[in-house]
Amino acid sequence: MNTTRSQELFSAAQNLMPGGVSSPVRAFKSVGGQPIVFDHVKGAYAWDVDGNRYIDYIGSWGPAICGHAHPKVIGALRNALGKGTSFGAPCALENQLAEMVIDAVPSVEMVRFVNSGTEACMSVLRLMRAFTGREKLIKFEGCYHGHADMFLVKAGSGVATLGLPDSPGVPRSTTASTLTAPYNDLEAVKRLFAENPGEIAGVILEPVVGNAGFITPEPGFLEGLREITTENGALLTFDEVMTGFRIAYGGAQAKFGITPDLTTLGKVIGGGLPVGAYGGRAEIMAMVAPAGPMYQAGTLSGNPLAMTAGIHTLELLRQPGTYERLEAITSRLIAGILAAAGEVELPICGGSISAMFGFFLCKGPVRNFEEAKAADTVRFGQLHRAMLERGVYLAPSAFEAGFTSLAHSDEDIDATLDAFRSSFAQIA
Ligand SMILES: *Cc1c(COP(=O)(O)O)cnc(C)c1O
Repeated sequence: MNTTRSQELFSAAQNLMPGGVSSPVRAFKSVGGQPIVFDHVKGAYAWDVDGNRYIDYIGSWGPAICGHAHPKVIGALRNALGKGTSFGAPCALENQLAEMVIDAVPSVEMVRFVNSGTEACMSVLRLMRAFTGREKLIKFEGCYHGHADMFLVKAGSGVATLGLPDSPGVPRSTTASTLTAPYNDLEAVKRLFAENPGEIAGVILEPVVGNAGFITPEPGFLEGLREITTENGALLTFDEVMTGFRIAYGGAQAKFGITPDLTTLGKVIGGGLPVGAYGGRAEIMAMVAPAGPMYQAGTLSGNPLAMTAGIHTLELLRQPGTYERLEAITSRLIAGILAAAGEVELPICGGSISAMFGFFLCKGPVRNFEEAKAADTVRFGQLHRAMLERGVYLAPSAFEAGFTSLAHSDEDIDATLDAFRSSFAQIA
């Protein structure tokens, strides 16, 4: 067999970077097979270095919700480049993006820009602790909040994929105040509050889970968390790094009508450049330096290039009909996937909200990470490879949500469903 350019490059990368990648899931460890090295992306498609085209359902893990390399975003970036890439000083574009975020996201009255979702989550935890004067935190099994020490307890995403319950190098003292509960389990949260009176700073969660596969909050779960945290003088933080501007323009909090105290954002608000943000009630954000005593800073934070990509991505998203379109194609996609698996009697369950979808190869329902782990990951690996051969690029893990974009056409969805039908038939 001839080696492909992807194989050559990935094999050379092994000696240059740990595992040959800059972020673990990209190495395809959990699905097996050969990672694809991309050359360029456009619209709904990615092309690899061997010239093969894929319909892409990762969209750079979320940011490409308007389609890759949207001409409006690229054009605006070209203009911005002419004025320099980073000022290390205030720029007007920060005001513009901040206003857009504050207008869009119900809980956000003030916002601080950072460079990644990880940074947003580690900063928001510091803020939760600074504001309440308490140290303990509740997170949920399978939820991923970036790779900061305090969150690497029963985390999802690549941590789940690689089967690392905790990472070596994380001191026990840093995770000692991280308490965990199963997702969708209000009783467990109540118990933790009862067992740790006056000690819990707050609760953080993915309001719709995407990092343990796609798991939705059961009716009453988000409402219950809002009540329990308020009753206990603790803060509620929605980690909307994935769901922000994807589940709805105002995020999951707008979709479900539950307003947290604090929110983290990332992915879509950077439109493909590195941007994260955290925000919330003005009274809490007043703690952040230099307005208040909680220190947090960033050399490249709020740089004009990243702000430009964010602004123009949100401008495209706030056009009328955008989320209706995303909802329509995504619900058609997932209905087709479930039907195709049903035709060959493969156990499957799944769903979608707006431009986010997912399925598990098990009977379901899946309400938490424990149930997600019952899914057939071996067969998912076979499916993943079969789909790649048919030109469809799915997330290389059974525990990651899928993403659609405004660039996915009805024909792309049809072609994808054809590929699912023949792939399911092949692996059943
Ligand atoms: C991706 C993600 C993060 C981490 O963001 P990075 O930009 O990868 O650091 C945090 N929380 C959630 C919910 C995410 O999906």
